[in-house]
Amino acid sequence: MIDTKHVNRLRAITGKENVLTSKEEMVAYSYDGTQMWSHQPDVVIFPTNATEISETLKYANENGIPVTPRGGGTNVSGGSIPIRGGIVLCTTKMNRIIEINKTNLNATVEPGVILQDFQDALAKQGLFFPPDPQSYSGCTMGGVVAENSGGPSCLKYGVTKQYVLGLEVALADGKIVKLGGLTPKNRTGYELMMLFTGSEGTLGIITKITLRLLPVPKANQTVLAIFRDPAVAGETVTSIIASSILPSKVEFMDKWTFNKFRGIIPDAILDTSEVILLIQVDGLPQTVAAEVQQVVTITKKTAREVRVAADAKEAEKYWQARRAHFSDIHSQAHDIINEDVSVPRDKIADFIRLSQEAAKRYDVPISFAGHVGDGNFHPAVLTDSRNKEHYQRALKCVDEVIEIALKLGGVISGEHGIGLEKARFLKKAMDPTAIEIMKKIKDLLDPKHTLNPGKIWEEG
Ligand SMILES: Cc1cc2nc3c(=O)[nH]c(=O)nc-3n(C[C@H](O)[C@H](O)[C@H](O)COP(=O)(O)OP(=O)(O)OC[C@H]3O[C@@H](n4cnc5c(N)ncnc54)[C@H](O)[C@@H]3O)c2cc1C
Repeated sequence: MIDTKHVNRLRAITGKENVLTSKEEMVAYSYDGTQMWSHQPDVVIFPTNATEISETLKYANENGIPVTPRGGGTNVSGGSIPIRGGIVLCTTKMNRIIEINKTNLNATVEPGVILQDFQDALAKQGLFFPPDPQSYSGCTMGGVVAENSGGPSCLKYGVTKQYVLGLEVALADGKIVKLGGLTPKNRTGYELMMLFTGSEGTLGIITKITLRLLPVPKANQTVLAIFRDPAVAGETVTSIIASSILPSKVEFMDKWTFNKFRGIIPDAILDTSEVILLIQVDGLPQTVAAEVQQVVTITKKTAREVRVAADAKEAEKYWQARRAHFSDIHSQAHDIINEDVSVPRDKIADFIRLSQEAAKRYDVPISFAGHVGDGNFHPAVLTDSRNKEHYQRALKCVDEVIEIALKLGGVISGEHGIGLEKARFLKKAMDPTAIEIMKKIKDLLDPKHTLNPGKIWEEG
């Protein structure tokens, strides 16, 4: 618990209207998008500018108080859980879009801007920021950069780090550092900006972000393909990518998350099918038409049914159903252990087959979904933590699924980050020297470990 003296100092820094301390409010900030983790902070603050963040960090550092940055709290790795208590520093009141510059194809925003608000503002000018985490109606730009988030469109356009041009960051001791700039090319010194992109709030708090933008493609079209066998669907994805077409999105949903599709596609075919692939191609209208034809030809060789959305309205119905995946899977069991592995694209079918075998051995249901065009899967083991024996089997299955991904040349997190959830796998997934370097960087930038402590590596 931090004492009243500290709370009063925080009130003086941010204004008393921006400080929460009640028991109920602490519960509200004790969790994020993960199911298994929660811990209450002692106080939650909502700074309104970088100076307030800097002063808070300086004070917390001098007094050894943990500070956990938080945007929308939608992450699914335990990243914004204040596992050591202390201060939750929530950026949602720093929500100004400072500039959208159509000529320079860039925009500068405060960290608390909600991704959807940003996209809506860009769309009015015919522009877009490609990374599209499916939590876009609630996640913030600070969270997106701190997690180096991905999403369906990252297949063609790349993840967040490919769009960060400049950052302003408040360091653990309160110093503010400006990194990068406004230009798409910048070879000045070490790439320090990349150190903070994806650092999960453990090295500094991002107070301003400049991002590269793209013009909205002139046309797009969506293809839906239904399969009986998940591994065959996986092989089909590999064939699409190997055929020299780069769709903007290739998403994979299995029968556990068909609920929202039932209103759109006849139940009969879904009842006897295992997988839906949702594929979007974008670009110039004539290119889109030719590439959709190519996708249809390839998918028809293996799929039970292939549909090309007749118009934007039908396509949007399919994508809405895809966006319901997370709530759909969480409605299927008392507990879901949801992973985020990424495997090389030519290993997608192997990953599915081997993971299915593991689930069979442990006798637990497993669901696959994800941004499969990138080889990025969210395998979910369905369990019930009230049944200890089942839960233990589910955990063992998850461990094995992660081992499978690593053996196939994959990684333990494609986009969700390590946080608390995946810290126990880090030693298996990273060169020990690389972990040592990361720890030295942490010690250099935050010697007292007051910034988002307990994350990324297991600490006691
Ligand atoms: C339904 C659902 C769908 C999702 N889909 C995707 C997806 O498709 N792709 C994907 O990549 N992710 C996805 N996510 C995960 C998550 O939404 C993203 O990681 C998102 O970018 C997090 O943003 P946030 O504002 O909610 O961050 P938070 O959850 O608040 O924080 C995330 C991390 O960033 C740190 N942080 C937050 N703000 C700052 C800041 N200003 N400076 C420094 N550190 C900061 C926090 O300490 C924490 O470690 C999904 C989550 C849900 C619940």
